[in-house]
Parts: sequence; C-alpha cells; structure tokens
Amino acid sequence: MTSARAGVVVVGGGQAGHSVVSALRGAGYDGPVIVLADEPHLPYQRPPLSKKAHTEPDGIRVDLVPESFYRERDIELRLGDGVTALDTAARTVVTGTGTRVPYEHLVLATGARNHQLPVPGAELDGVHALRSLDDALTIGQALTTARDVVVVGGGFIGLELAQVAAARGADVTVVELADRLLSRAVSPQLQEHLRARHERSGVRILTGTGVQAIEGAGRVERVVTGRGMLPADLVVYGIGAAPRDELARDAGLAVDDGVLVDEQLRSITDPRISAVGDCARHPHPHADGLVRLESVQNATDQGALVGRRIAGSPAPYRSLPWFWSDQGDIRLQIAGLRTATDEVRVVPSDTPEKLAAYAFRDDRLVAVETLNWPAEHLAARRLLEQETPVCSADLAGATLGALARARRKAEVRT
Ligand code: ADP
Repeated sequence: MTSARAGVVVVGGGQAGHSVVSALRGAGYDGPVIVLADEPHLPYQRPPLSKKAHTEPDGIRVDLVPESFYRERDIELRLGDGVTALDTAARTVVTGTGTRVPYEHLVLATGARNHQLPVPGAELDGVHALRSLDDALTIGQALTTARDVVVVGGGFIGLELAQVAAARGADVTVVELADRLLSRAVSPQLQEHLRARHERSGVRILTGTGVQAIEGAGRVERVVTGRGMLPADLVVYGIGAAPRDELARDAGLAVDDGVLVDEQLRSITDPRISAVGDCARHPHPHADGLVRLESVQNATDQGALVGRRIAGSPAPYRSLPWFWSDQGDIRLQIAGLRTATDEVRVVPSDTPEKLAAYAFRDDRLVAVETLNWPAEHLAARRLLEQETPVCSADLAGATLGALARARRKAEVRT
C-alpha cells in the first residue's frame, strides 16, 4: 500500500533500479520505497540473455533476487505499469493507468532502448532484436530450428548471439556496417584478434557491409546486403541503443543523449531527481568530458551510490568502469576507459589463448582489454583503481598481475 508520506520512487526495474532500492534499505533508509516498472517481470539480469541463457537446460533463470527480498524489506514493486509523465512542480509521477505517485526523491533508472533496423522487411516474422527477457525467450525458441542465421551488428549483443547460434549448429553470418567489429568499445588492435577467433570458430564476418533489405513471403527468407544475398531463416540485430530519457526531457530536465547529472548523479536541473545506469550522462574522473555507460557495473555502482546518498551518505561517483562479454569460449574483458587517441600495445601471454591490449595516455595506463585472461583483467582493475599510475616502462617484460603483486609486497614492507 502507498503510505501517506512520500518517499523514494524509482522508475525502472532493471539492474540499476534494483541496486538503488537494495542500497537504500541496506543503508537504513526507512521511508516508503516504490519501484514502478513497465515490464511485468521481477528485476532480472540482462547479461545472460545474449550469452548462454538460451542453452541452459532449465530455461532462463535470471531473477536478481527472489520476490521475498522486496517483501522483507518493505519495498513496493509495481510491475507492468510504466510511468508516462513526471510532474516536477507537484513532485508526482503519473503511470500508464493514470495513478499519481508522490515522491520526495525520484530516481530515473529507465535504461536504454534498441535502435530499430531501418530497412524494408525489418517487420517480417523471424527478425528480432534482443533487450528484454521476452525477446530472449522468442529468440531462444527460434534458435531451436534456425539453420541460416544472419546477425546484423558486430557489437556486443551481435557477437554474443552469433556464438550462441553457432553453438546450436547454425550457419552464422555477422553483417557489420563499420569497417571493424566492436568499433565503439575495443581498440582496433584487439579487434583483429577477436575477429580471427570468431572466424576460426566458423562464424562468417562481413565488415563494411550494410543491410539493404530483408525479404520473404511473410517470414524472412533472405537478407540483401551490400555484398550480395544471404539466405536466412532467422535475423537477429543489435545495432546499438539510445537512452530512455524522454520522461526527463518532457518534464523540462536537461537532457543530451541521456539525463544530464552531476557527480552525485543528481539532475543538473532538479536535485530531487537522480538518474542512474544506461539513461544517465555524467562526469567521471576517468573520462574526458561527460560519459554515458551501458554496463552492469555502471548500473550497479550508480544505483548503490544514489541509494546511499538518499539514506544520508553522499559521495561523488568515481567507480572504475569495467565490462565483460562472453562470446562462445572467448571472454572479452575491459577495465578503464580508452579514447581513440590513446596508444595501444598488444602483448601476448605465455599461452596463445590469453592476450591483452594496454592503452596509454601520456604514458599512463588508462585501460586494459583482455581476451581469456581474467587474472590480468583483475590486476588491471586493481591497479587502475589505485592513485599510483602505471607507465609503459613498468610493463616492460612483465604482466600487470606481476606488477600488482610486486606493489603489494612493497606496501607490506613499508
Ligand atoms: P549493442 O549493445 O546493440 O551490441 P554496440 O554499440 O555494442 O551495441 O554495437 C552495435 C554495432 O552495430 C556497432 O558495431 C555498429 O557499427 C553496428 N551497426 C549500427 N548500425 C548498423 C547497421 N544498420 N547495419 C549493421 N551494423 C550496424
């Protein structure tokens, strides 16, 4: 039940929204806490949806916590009734069913929405994008019979799904518009190795290639690309996402490809409103200007920061960005933030499986990308979180793992 006192209202029941409410209660906040979510499901993890959930024998089990978690903490979940408008003057949100919910603090955790594939035929049966649990169930079902799969977009979702489909025995082609894979997120140097691994596993990759049309009689039968026709009985696309910031924009809050927030993740227009996760654009000590990050780490850490702030412990957002993507048996991990002008050095490890690309800015290590080398990724996170910088000479002939161990030993001695 809604209590008379207005408390915290969270819009969005994803990873970020969940993190806000669990941190609020964890930090002792005792006012009303309400989550308003448009999806009918309990908050769930999205990463497994494009990785291996389809192949799990018991189906998809992705709930973050059981329903009892919220009940025991007196967190009210209102599922399946999305927010349609904010009334910031009255400090109230309005839901699709017309309910008005007052707030003392409002947290926008609305996430992002997939770009639609802008070609004729994208509406045919057998053409799918992946974002929600329902999308994953549909694609999982389609994969049980699909033989010719065309994946549009060689980003994280596309490459993960390409490997899922290949593991099911399908013939898979990835069609990527840019001249390389994952151009948004990984260095060209690492991309070459990643691409070679995908190709070795039997996935065909066409870069610098656009999709012109999808054709078929009611159902997809082929994809017309700039490099010819591909037979297809299933098309999945992952061509990026845009923040769901329209509620904020329509309410007059500052928005620029994401809700603009300060270092404590408060709207720069209205400090009673915060934004967290994929929908927020924020300052970050590791970034050159404002950034918007689409990752579980970012959603979780930002949600927790805002929950703790509202409960009485404010702090600026400084968490080191990190990320992972499982593409079949390729584990790609990224620590830190790289920009296009950073100098990248690829260093193979003692085994051909493991590889790392180190990015330096003004000779200071700023990001590390690894393939199948979790230990080096963890060492990178540890070192990048520390104040003491790592320069390229520190790495001469050594791994970050060895460097981190040496520094720990030196700290113990002093
Ligand atoms: P996602 O989270 O959807 O995987 P990414 O940004 O990681 O998003 O990757 C999206 C990829 O899709 C990028 O590599 C981008 O170049 C590619 N892309 C965007 N538009 C198209 C298109 N029309 N056809 C093919 N690839 C596209």
